[in-house]
Amino acid sequence: MTTTQQSFALNSLTQDFLARDEHFLFINGGRVPASSGETLSTVAPSTGETLATFSSGNAADIDRAVTAARAAFQGEWSTWTPYQRQELLVKVARVLDERFEELAQIESLDMGAPISRVLSSKPALMRMLSFFAAQALNISGETLQNGIPGQVTTMTLKAPVGVIGGIIPWNGPLNSQFWIIGAVLASGCTTVLKPAQYASLSVLRVAEILHEAGVPAGVVNVVTGRGSEAGTALAAHTDVDRVAFTGSTETGQRIIEASTSNIKKLQLELGGKSADIICADADLDKAVPAAAMGVFANSGQICYAGTRVLVQRSIVDEFTEKLLAYVDTLRVGHSLDPDSALGPVISESQLDTVLSYVDVGLAEGADLLYGGQRLADQAGGYFMQPTVFGGVTNTMRIAREEIFGPVLSILPFDDIDEAIAIANDSDFGLGGAVWSENISTALKVVQGVHTGTMWVNCYGYVDPMVGFSGTKLSGYGAKGTSAHMDTYLYTKSVYIQL
Ligand code: NAD
Repeated sequence: MTTTQQSFALNSLTQDFLARDEHFLFINGGRVPASSGETLSTVAPSTGETLATFSSGNAADIDRAVTAARAAFQGEWSTWTPYQRQELLVKVARVLDERFEELAQIESLDMGAPISRVLSSKPALMRMLSFFAAQALNISGETLQNGIPGQVTTMTLKAPVGVIGGIIPWNGPLNSQFWIIGAVLASGCTTVLKPAQYASLSVLRVAEILHEAGVPAGVVNVVTGRGSEAGTALAAHTDVDRVAFTGSTETGQRIIEASTSNIKKLQLELGGKSADIICADADLDKAVPAAAMGVFANSGQICYAGTRVLVQRSIVDEFTEKLLAYVDTLRVGHSLDPDSALGPVISESQLDTVLSYVDVGLAEGADLLYGGQRLADQAGGYFMQPTVFGGVTNTMRIAREEIFGPVLSILPFDDIDEAIAIANDSDFGLGGAVWSENISTALKVVQGVHTGTMWVNCYGYVDPMVGFSGTKLSGYGAKGTSAHMDTYLYTKSVYIQL
């Protein structure tokens, strides 16, 4: 197969964007270099070739961006009515709809997600923007009774909190940034976004497009750079009111520490090790492909990946045979190839990490049933075979630690109580699923498993109207539903003496 991105037709807007010598920070409605002049480069994981150079922001740049965001929050943007903010979100959706191919190509090249996967995420993005457009018209306090003598009228008001620090991971920034941007535009807040070093480009491009679509200067700012510089400065900045963070649990713990500088409220979406429970009465024709893609989609780089596949012992052999046959049909290739089911993993170091877990699994006595190797025939790219371990027990590291790569573990169980106990024997509590034709069994699992999201006879649906969030080391703070806006609004109690 061909491995250079030039082999795939790129939208002319994508080409123009990628041809830039340096991708600058986006502050106060304009592109500006980092104050230090330092740059970083990003690599296309499908080829290992340098894709682009971007500015490496530091604490001074974060400070510039926060100042711009604060000024915008206090400026004309604060006079926009809910209807104006809703109309802006509708317009943003229309413009993104038109520009989606370009954005999808940038995302696919920069982070290695298969282009088919990114393109098919467009309806979900459109739904998310519709959701936040509706939220703009749905901000309300309450009138409340009181026990105060005399004629005192009491109520609560909801008001935007101010500047939101948005810290984003690399495994799908094109869509994940809108959990923050959508809420910022709906609420009247402003934001400074810090994308991940490995995948910043779609976030920079979106900021420019938003500005062209009418988002006022300073409302959405982007400072690219290292987590250890720009990220820490944003998390600790005392003029940032709240932080919405998606990323690893370890970084989330650092952000909690940094938040003490001015007692920031946080929304934390962290790691996972979700259990996908396949009962003996499951419809395997549906459960097998869903369990496979519940891990192998995005090469396992999804927080809610169902990496612990718990299978009832009586059907382990049948399930495994069908799973391996399905995995064998999955094509691994260049992310821009429309036929690729799996792209590369994000970087050489992430590939090394994932491969080291294969050694860990073997050393712990798990059976390597499929894959486990780097794909050497695709020179330069960070490609790995989809990998399946059988005979895994929940004490093994491959069942306990988030690998964030294409590694699926099969763990047998005897009865539902044991499956629930195994599912709960984890530091994480993000997602999970149960496959059963018996609704009583399914509901027992849904009620028994301690996670923020459960799927029944399906895997991976996320709709902002329904929500998606974590428990335990997977984080806190609602993502989706009207509770999402709690991070972006504060409540003011008002007493009026008549
Ligand atoms: P990461 O924690 O390494 O980085 C996330 C972001 O934090 C990046 O922008 C990074 O530059 C920044 N950062 C790093 N150190 C920082 C610090 N000390 N202070 C402030 N910011 C810092 O995560 P990643 O490797 O980019 O992404 C993968 C992780 O994200 C996985 O653990 C995955 O489960 C998680 N994730 C969770 C969800 C969810 O919704 N729960 C969604 C996607 C990804």
